Amino acid sequence: AKARGGNGYSFASEDLDRDFARRMNLEVGLRKALEEDQLLLYYQPILELREGRLVGLEALLRWSEAPGRFVPPDEFIPLAEEIGLIQPLGAWVFRNALKQLRSWEDKGFRDFTLCVNVSPLQIRDPHFPESLEEALRETGANPKRLVLEITEQCLLGERAPLRELFLRLHRLGIRVYIDDFGTGYSSLSYLKDFALDGLKVDRSFLQGVPENQRNRSLVEAMLAMARGLGLESVVEGVEEEGQMDLLRRLGYPQVQGFLFSRPLPAESLESLLQKGRIP
Ligand code: C2E
Ligand code: CA
Ligand code: CA
Ligand code: CA
Repeated sequence: AKARGGNGYSFASEDLDRDFARRMNLEVGLRKALEEDQLLLYYQPILELREGRLVGLEALLRWSEAPGRFVPPDEFIPLAEEIGLIQPLGAWVFRNALKQLRSWEDKGFRDFTLCVNVSPLQIRDPHFPESLEEALRETGANPKRLVLEITEQCLLGERAPLRELFLRLHRLGIRVYIDDFGTGYSSLSYLKDFALDGLKVDRSFLQGVPENQRNRSLVEAMLAMARGLGLESVVEGVEEEGQMDLLRRLGYPQVQGFLFSRPLPAESLESLLQKGRIP
């Protein structure tokens, strides 16, 4: 609180009251959103850099609190985790993303992967694999096209149950990528303990690139490491031509960012899916 004068305390507590009220509203609203289907998924293209071919789409959750007003996921996903709504929310995401994937498959769009974000609480939930398998059965979507994006936080804690889970996922053909790579608190030892399929280099490392020598070295090192380990790599948050040129020099990783496309509703993607590439 930016309180001034003798009455600072009450200013601060008004701020707290306001935060509390906002949170309560969000909480009530989010429960309602889930029940009344005010949620929707946007999809952001992932491209390979040589020819601009579409290789994937990342599903990104949207909550329209009121017509034209979106609550940012960075705000409501942490809240959903706190109030125990992330499991039903996550299940909603899988059902709908896979339903969409199936409908694209039916239209003949069959050669890109679908990336879905999974939160730590969700992946540690013992019912997670059944719920995912059920969504796959219900929709008939092809699990080989599915990539789960998990953050390094997901890997903290006991490793054995997660190794089991990844085995189970791999048996179905589902792949697992580390999201926001390089920003978590976990040590790199997870890269030797877990069978992973790819890394998504966090967009913070692209800041000031190519001029910023430190970030540039970090991106280069992460891509070299991924290559050495046989992991797929995606660089997130590409906004400028200069960043893209550098990535070309660094071996053509897959890319995702506003330079190519913002996240879009499914209907708006059809022409891109038809062309299969961004010019
Ligand atoms: P994320 O998984 O790292 O997703 C990428 C975010 O970066 C998206 O924000 C996307 O719109 C944004 N982005 C993509 N390209 C650019 C770019 O060039 N520049 C900039 N500045 N940003 C870019 P969004 O959609 O707001 O999502 C924020 C976060 O919310 C996600 O970060 C993810 O952690 C979480 N989230 C979104 N959907 C889900 C979901 O279904 N489940 C879970 N558990 N988390 C989700
Ligand atoms: Ca992600
Ligand atoms: Ca990310
Ligand atoms: Ca993130």
